[in-house]
Amino acid sequence: MTKRVAVIGAGPSGLAQLRAFQSAAQKGAEIPEVVCFEKQANWGGLWNYTWRTGVDEHGEPVHGSMYRYLWSNGPKEGLEFADYSFEEHFGKQIASYPPRAVMVDYIEGRVLKAGVRDWIRFNSVIRWIEEDAETGMFTVTVHDMEKDSVYREVFDHVIIATGHFSSPNVPEYPGFDTYHGRIVHAHDFRDAREFTGKDVLLVGASYSAEDIGSQCWKYGAKTVTTSYRSAPMGFHWPDNWEEKPALVRVEGKTAFFKDGTSREVDAIILCTGYRHYFPFLPDDLRLKTKNRLAAADLYKGVIYVHNPKLFYLGMQDQWFTFNMFDAQAWYVRDIIMGRIEVPADRQVLMADVSEREAREEASDDVKYAIRYQGDYIKELLADTDYPSFDVDGACAAFFEWKKHKSIDIMGFRNNCYQSVITGTMAPVHHTPWKDALDDSMEAYLAN
Ligand code: FAD
Ligand code: NAP
Ligand code: MG
Repeated sequence: MTKRVAVIGAGPSGLAQLRAFQSAAQKGAEIPEVVCFEKQANWGGLWNYTWRTGVDEHGEPVHGSMYRYLWSNGPKEGLEFADYSFEEHFGKQIASYPPRAVMVDYIEGRVLKAGVRDWIRFNSVIRWIEEDAETGMFTVTVHDMEKDSVYREVFDHVIIATGHFSSPNVPEYPGFDTYHGRIVHAHDFRDAREFTGKDVLLVGASYSAEDIGSQCWKYGAKTVTTSYRSAPMGFHWPDNWEEKPALVRVEGKTAFFKDGTSREVDAIILCTGYRHYFPFLPDDLRLKTKNRLAAADLYKGVIYVHNPKLFYLGMQDQWFTFNMFDAQAWYVRDIIMGRIEVPADRQVLMADVSEREAREEASDDVKYAIRYQGDYIKELLADTDYPSFDVDGACAAFFEWKKHKSIDIMGFRNNCYQSVITGTMAPVHHTPWKDALDDSMEAYLAN
């Protein structure tokens, strides 16, 4: 009997899994039957932009957390697919920080070429997954939103690729319930022009605060204030941008901070991160982890130690993205196809997790963390036929990126880097990021 494999989610991780199986089939191997379930009407995951907030057209929670004018926040040279370069897709080398529309076109190009779209059932929400204790098979309950019908199917393996930057972490501060303005989480932020001429406060000190603040600044916010709980971001901000310590409370339209200062703000954007959220999984299958490099309970970062027939992709905090998801997907494919063996002893699986945790905790240095994730990719790549690439070179692009951000936070996206896949240098983009208000693919690719 041919094995059946369910892939949950058709974002970059789930699509990597489909491409991994398709590439084995292309080389003549017999592959399992693969069915991918995607709750949205199209593929691309977070990169599939939606204007919607709250619930989608079916009344389901909106997955999308991306917004208009979003440009890649890291160099594309750090994430390029080793089996499908930017040059192959666009017919030329392109600049290093593409806007979302360009990125989603690239993501789509590889899977269109692979011809895997009909492996995906769209508008299909996974409601529940459970293991049959006797057979060890998984029963997957699916809600087909188009037909509005719920059905169940049985699989040998399940691969969870539903992402972990969708379900928002929403803290409450005293006075929020009587605040005279808009309070919105980054997950629901869509268009910076909403805040043109306004004084905005962003709570949080990580990528969302930095980037949404930058969008607001670029599209004409009067002032930007960011508030940190642990440590300031510490960049050389523009004159109308101030970093404050922790928010304490609000009163009317006034926000009060831990250092005793206050300021009036028109809107509060909570850039307070996301939760790993799997409402379709029972306790014995559900991953419970923090957003960190060594995700809890995952042998080799992908195999659920409490049930090694279940896999998770892309659950780590991310320096690397697409190429790491690929390394994971090829590795999971080879386990399912019997090419890689998972140790039978659960103690061995747990020890692998502990070792990864200890190694992550050994340093707080950023370069250490980037190398750590690079080493993880190398570890997985060594055992599969995913095209090997210069991971150290990709790490070097991230080091440069860090440096460029510390020099000029509103200008770092004007830099270019060398592809580790094709060896070519990216061209300088025709317009500095701060002046490029049109983020369409046509505008970006124009010479
Ligand atoms: P996702 O992209 O989240 O895809 C998961 C898919 O699973 C979705 O299509 C969703 O609809 C589906 N799904 C969820 N639940 C169910 C269900 N119950 N049933 C069926 N389907 C379901 N990375 C970068 O490399 N560069 C960037 O510039 C960058 N910018 C980002 C900006 C923002 C605002 C955010 C939030 C993230 C950004 N990322 C960026 C990181 C991002 O996590 C990855 O690029 C990538 O999208 C992760 O892919 P994924 O497939 O693991 O998850
Ligand atoms: P994150 O990196 O997890 O950061 C969450 C932030 O919220 C941290 O600063 C945290 O502070 C703070 N926080 C959490 N709870 C808080 C509370 N109760 N009160 C105050 N502060 C609180 O999440 P993120 O910034 O949303 O980034 C998520 C992902 O999206 C990243 O992978 C990022 O790369 C991606 N992203 C990319 C772009 C882009 O430009 N392409 C834009 C946005 C996001 P502590 O440090 O104190 O915990
Ligand atoms: Mg650390």
